[in-house]
Amino acid sequence: MKAAVVYGENDIRIADVPTPVPGPGQMLIRVRASGICATDVKILGGSGLPKELPTILGHEVAGTVEALGEGVTAPLLGCRVVVYPIAACGECFFCHRGRHSLCVRPYGLAHGADGGFAEFLCVPEQIVRLGGVIEIGDMPFDMAAMIEPVSCCISAAEMCRIQEGDTVLVIGGGPLGLLHAIVAKSRGATVLVADINAERLSRAGEVGADVLLNPNSVDMQEEVLRRTGVGADVVIAALGNAAVIEQALPLVRSRGVFNIFGGTPKGQTIRLDPRWLHYGEITLTGTFAASLDQFVEARAFVGEHAGLVSRVISAHCSLDGILDAVEAVKRGTQLKTIIDFD
Ligand SMILES: [Zn+2]
Ligand SMILES: [Zn+2]
Repeated sequence: MKAAVVYGENDIRIADVPTPVPGPGQMLIRVRASGICATDVKILGGSGLPKELPTILGHEVAGTVEALGEGVTAPLLGCRVVVYPIAACGECFFCHRGRHSLCVRPYGLAHGADGGFAEFLCVPEQIVRLGGVIEIGDMPFDMAAMIEPVSCCISAAEMCRIQEGDTVLVIGGGPLGLLHAIVAKSRGATVLVADINAERLSRAGEVGADVLLNPNSVDMQEEVLRRTGVGADVVIAALGNAAVIEQALPLVRSRGVFNIFGGTPKGQTIRLDPRWLHYGEITLTGTFAASLDQFVEARAFVGEHAGLVSRVISAHCSLDGILDAVEAVKRGTQLKTIIDFD
């Protein structure tokens, strides 16, 4: 089969590799759509590159079930599905509490197991056992590839306890920032999106953001205070830049929630005034990935909000076009790019 294989830092090549054969408990998926995530680009750049190389990235995967390994009884052969990417052990402290993304034995698609930048993908036994291969009905495959990123935003919305009437400020109008805006709007929040890229801001407006703020042309502090009186109820930092996160801290109101959603490069730190946290009774939190329940919720969400979610997809390409697509992610000239297979 054809695959985009990572051999080392910034070394990704289209190669012909053996099509995997599903072992006991596993499922073989014919990949039909794979989303390219900023995380993939980060990993490719060397941050969190798996020890065992070569590897295949891609954790936003939809396709059809091609074959079942020994012992798999799920009636899914031939079905159109999306795959929950985390092969949680199901037995540890966090798994017992439904927090699969915090499993103490981190493993999953593009994280030890080969991911979806390939024509076929073998779903690890743990994911199959967990019920992480989920039917999508007649949902288009490219939309199904959006379920994983949406699940991460639902996870953040729950962590931030976003509710009707809240003012939510999203820092960063990339694909995940836009999905945060869509999720927060669906919960009845007023949404402000900040980005220095005018094109991204206008797309944020198209998906329903109420207020668009360009920090290059407005004083964020002044503007957020003017519009809210006390600061935003919730601030979500949907970008991977510690300096920008640090600057955004004072934009949350007292007793508000600040969520660090985007992963920052190793070694970057922020300075924090303990008095701000203490006297403001701020909740400072982070979210990473999503639980299986949130992933299932995201499947329904994408179905119900297809019109808005589809606007976050800005490009489609073939597997051969992955190198150009990765460059575009690095330059920030695309939102979500979906790799199509046929
Ligand atoms: Zn992702
Ligand atoms: Zn576990």
